[in-house]
Amino acid sequence: MANLNRRQFLQSLGLASAATAAVAFPGIIKAATTRPHVVVIGGGFAGATAAKYLRYWSTAVDVTLVEPNTTYYSPILSNLVLNNQRNLSQISFNYNTLASKYGIKVVNDWVDSVNAPNQTINLRGGSTLAYDRLIIAPGIQFMDVPGLDSSKVPHAWQAGAQTTLLQQQLAAMPAGGTFVMTIPAAPYRCPPGPYERACVVADWLRTNKPGSNVIVLDANPKITVEEATFSTAFAEYGVQYVPNAALSGVDSDQKVAHTSAGDFKADVLNVIPPQSAGAIIHATGLANVGARWAGVNPLSYESTAVPNIHIIGDSQGTGQPKAGHIANAEAKVCADAVLRLLSGGQPFAAPMTNSACYSPISSTTASWLTAVYAYEQASGTMKLVPESFGASDVPTTKNYSRMFDWTTNLFNDTFA
Ligand SMILES: Cc1cc2nc3c(=O)[nH]c(=O)nc-3n(C[C@H](O)[C@H](O)[C@H](O)COP(=O)(O)OP(=O)(O)OC[C@H]3O[C@@H](n4cnc5c(N)ncnc54)[C@H](O)[C@@H]3O)c2cc1C
Repeated sequence: MANLNRRQFLQSLGLASAATAAVAFPGIIKAATTRPHVVVIGGGFAGATAAKYLRYWSTAVDVTLVEPNTTYYSPILSNLVLNNQRNLSQISFNYNTLASKYGIKVVNDWVDSVNAPNQTINLRGGSTLAYDRLIIAPGIQFMDVPGLDSSKVPHAWQAGAQTTLLQQQLAAMPAGGTFVMTIPAAPYRCPPGPYERACVVADWLRTNKPGSNVIVLDANPKITVEEATFSTAFAEYGVQYVPNAALSGVDSDQKVAHTSAGDFKADVLNVIPPQSAGAIIHATGLANVGARWAGVNPLSYESTAVPNIHIIGDSQGTGQPKAGHIANAEAKVCADAVLRLLSGGQPFAAPMTNSACYSPISSTTASWLTAVYAYEQASGTMKLVPESFGASDVPTTKNYSRMFDWTTNLFNDTFA
């Protein structure tokens, strides 16, 4: 937990036992007859963590998690499927433990709409669920790119079938072929992720498809993070890096990317489109940051547009990175705040969050990046703590093995 340990939290809320809950919390007392109901939309790193911690910290609330898929494929580590270091089953998770261990009700359905005045959500399957507090964590949706057909030109930026498609296309690419990938202008999901992918693929092609080329078309003016690490690797692997290459369209059949830096023809084309908050955020009128992301109060992640709705993970618009590790941290801050609000209290006033990314650079080495964010009262925003920022000097095999320790911790903290 970012701001209190569990014991302090339970003591502060008086939730150490049902008896103390009844004395300390009028809102939760009412729960004896009508228990507060928190609905969480989306079972990724943000939503699954929020659902788990709500119930881990309080059995006085009912929690329903609505997620259409029974299996979640982690985007984290998914680049290692492209070079055959991992398979999808090694990065797949289900919601059985959240249900059996924490008593979360899991509903496999898609949320079509939210009726905020009535505090209900409408599911595609036809049912309606009422909530006292709603947490929405739908990740990203892709913005339109003219001519792009993702069944021919995969993004592989949500893991699963798209990851397999890109892996199969690379496996079928002739030696001496050309792999082209595009990177959208920031902000996008996982700042180092695209550069990591270019490195992993280029390293794999060196051995498996000799004489092949890798071209990275970046809409940004320069590598957005870990510039020294990625530019050194690009030089070593012979990756052609093209900055300021804004994508204007795609010929999905001919596999051509049209950009402000020219047209680039590929044997395998990987277009990572620009992104915005998940569709349900837009449909609910919550995308009030640049008409793309959801504005929230970072003390509670409650929407600045609609009360009783909280947004966490990649969809939130606080300026914190769009990444799974920090989504897990935001979820804990949000769960803490929701429990406090449900019992008539106020959110903790000084939350902190942490972001961490390990990036494989080859099949045996990795780099890392980390940063802490703290709430600044004067501006009401999350600010990077400058002295907390850290990055590895060079990619190493030790980092590569620690990467799996880190993911094991994160995966367990989210799904187990
Ligand atoms: C190649 C790659 C590498 C990465 N590496 C790292 C890394 O090293 N470190 C790191 O921290 N992050 C990394 N990330 C980023 C990380 O995966 C994302 O930031 C994270 O998945 C965001 O979590 P989320 O819960 O917001 O969204 P998601 O994980 O996308 O989950 C959203 C869920 O919401 C569900 N959903 C959406 N709409 C609805 C609806 N209407 N009704 C019901 N359910 C809905 C979806 O089905 C989905 O399961 C990486 C990403 C990629 C692509």
